[in-house]
Amino acid sequence: MTSLDAFAGDKLNQLEAASLLRRLKPTRRLPGGWVERDGRRLLSFSDNDYLGLSHHPAVIAAAQAATAEHGAGAGASRLVTGDNPLFSALEERLARLKGTEAACLFGSGYLANTGVIPTFAGPKDIVLVDQLAHACIWAGAQLSGARIIPFRHNDVAHLAELLAEHRASARHALVATDGVFSMDGDVAPLGALSDLCAAHDAWLLSDDAHGVGVLAHGKGSAALFPGAVIPLQMGTLSKALGAYGGYLCGSKAVVDLLKTRARTVVYTTGLPPGAAAAALAALDVIEADPDMAALPLAKARAFTQAVGLPPATSPIVPVIIGEAQAALDASRALEAEGFLVVAIRPPTVPVGAARLRIAFSAQHPDAEIARLAALVRPFVKVTA
Ligand SMILES: *Cc1c(COP(=O)(O)O)cnc(C)c1O
Repeated sequence: MTSLDAFAGDKLNQLEAASLLRRLKPTRRLPGGWVERDGRRLLSFSDNDYLGLSHHPAVIAAAQAATAEHGAGAGASRLVTGDNPLFSALEERLARLKGTEAACLFGSGYLANTGVIPTFAGPKDIVLVDQLAHACIWAGAQLSGARIIPFRHNDVAHLAELLAEHRASARHALVATDGVFSMDGDVAPLGALSDLCAAHDAWLLSDDAHGVGVLAHGKGSAALFPGAVIPLQMGTLSKALGAYGGYLCGSKAVVDLLKTRARTVVYTTGLPPGAAAAALAALDVIEADPDMAALPLAKARAFTQAVGLPPATSPIVPVIIGEAQAALDASRALEAEGFLVVAIRPPTVPVGAARLRIAFSAQHPDAEIARLAALVRPFVKVTA
């Protein structure tokens, strides 16, 4: 055995012993929120396709037509020959949706955060990050070379203390948070964060991966806080918009700098044209049906009420189980009943906070939600 294989084998054994080994499971996603795994049909509560748009006929048709017209791939970096005309059309639509001057597309949400943060922060700067922020915000902060200062989850007072202590020592300060937290479903206090950033000349980045398409008539989490100033509004095309790709909405100067300097724009191939066309069509569908965007949250609220949890604030509802193995067992019990609810384990969530992460879609039948609630209720811990 080579030392490389020995290293990998040891790591795998350790992960397996701690119930932390992850395995890919081929899954056919079907319309209506259904999936097929190991020959079984399950109703999935583990997709981020909150509106079912990945299977919407108009979205599929747009992707097919754009692929036929422009080819399967963009062929080069956008700065070479890969800047398909669909991209600027999509950027205009996203900027309009978010109320910003401009937008910049990225290959994915992960690539957006790992490109944006290092463009605006460097070794003389500080990046303050919510402890529960998504992995790609941490990755972007690390790539920037700035000093990273974590703040307690959604704790504005703690962030205020840290800014008071450290802001003067840094050239620039960037504050980064999820708008909707991906594993907890709660919403960041963007109004208070915006005020604090204004007081300390800090730049606020909000990641709206789970807000766009589902909160505030589809505009996303920032629109829940009128008056909040969020100069860096990041998000993804890969969740409620049913396609693939990421974006940053901001001022013209911010976006122009990204397009010439962000390494995940410059040194990577443009999006597949079909993905951009799909996202454009998804935005059309959302605009044409203003009530649809509210459905995932309404369904999540019906569920939290049925199981006795505080009212959902987004389509994501966590049911904290604790140990990784117990979360896996709970997930398996639900699967036996026809529900796919994937267990989320460390390091995606803190040690001891393994959970069922239940994500609601506009398409979930109410009767199935009620049946799921009855099965999940015994796992819900009663808190004082
Ligand atoms: C999923 C997610 C991303 C990454 O988006 P992709 O387009 O899937 O790369 C970024 N931030 C948050 C909060 C997410 O949940």
